[in-house]
Amino acid sequence: MKRILLWIGVAIMVAATVVLVCLIRLTCIFGNHVYSPATCTEPEICTRCGIVNGEPLGHLYGEATCTEPSVCLRCGEHHADALGHEWLPATCTEPEICARCGITRGEPLGHVMADATYQQPAACTRCGYTEGAPLTPALAGRTFVELQVGTPVPYTTASYEDRDVDVTGTAEITDYRVIDGDEIFPAREGYEWHVATVRLVFAGKDAQTDGAQSAYTFGDYYILDDSMSMHEDESGMRTFAADWYGMRVCCWQKTGETVENDWYDHELRFTWEEGVLVPKGYDGVLLILYHFRKAADATRLYLPASEVLDDNALVFRMK
Ligand SMILES: [Zn+2]
Ligand SMILES: [Zn+2]
Ligand SMILES: [Zn+2]
Ligand SMILES: [Zn+2]
Repeated sequence: MKRILLWIGVAIMVAATVVLVCLIRLTCIFGNHVYSPATCTEPEICTRCGIVNGEPLGHLYGEATCTEPSVCLRCGEHHADALGHEWLPATCTEPEICARCGITRGEPLGHVMADATYQQPAACTRCGYTEGAPLTPALAGRTFVELQVGTPVPYTTASYEDRDVDVTGTAEITDYRVIDGDEIFPAREGYEWHVATVRLVFAGKDAQTDGAQSAYTFGDYYILDDSMSMHEDESGMRTFAADWYGMRVCCWQKTGETVENDWYDHELRFTWEEGVLVPKGYDGVLLILYHFRKAADATRLYLPASEVLDDNALVFRMK
């Protein structure tokens, strides 16, 4: 009887063990869930009982590039389209280039070269790149006596009485200024007046006997083209041409106020203002004092510069 009871006990224990193992293996009643790994969109889920644990991982999106879309690095889900290139325009020297990835497309545009002028070398109209040097001024190689402000220099011209007689005095630019305009010199948009005060003094015996007759005209350092008009309009303006950045532009000359024009203490003095109206910054105009004998008579002042520009001419650059 005892033996039977023993066997029954053993059988119960075996059965209990089997049931226990089955419960552990087949159910989750002891909290022994068997989770599948979480994904981008699903949390951990028990494969046996369906219970969930934690949160979905969420997508892990890569950066979109010019050519590749943004996708989830884990599951491949599409997030955003490729960005496309961000083209910067081509320049003279660089092709179109993507601001993001640096890839290039096409060819550089190449320079658009404009001819050299007296003011600047051959230059690209798009980017300003320059090549070579400005044109050589017509008078670059010439030597003449150049007047400086405040420095009198000898000036020989003809006597008032007899143009075959030489008279020598001094010529000086006593003042030089650049102004927009005033009541004498009318302003003009884009232009400026270059105004010189000229002073001639004849103190010698020759002048005291015969007087002196001065002569002056205007020229251009760059083109020396004798364009100064012999005639003035009703407002006292004479036209002449300048070559400004390759453009032929109209300029004007006007004689301003006379300050002195008489004898003062045995000195014959002439002091007056000469103005030229030129594009802002133009530095080519020459005021030329020359020997009156060349003019032959007073109605032929303002002779072409090329006729009077010799080694004796006095030249003031109105720049
Ligand atoms: Zn479970
Ligand atoms: Zn994902
Ligand atoms: Zn790109
Ligand atoms: Zn260029």
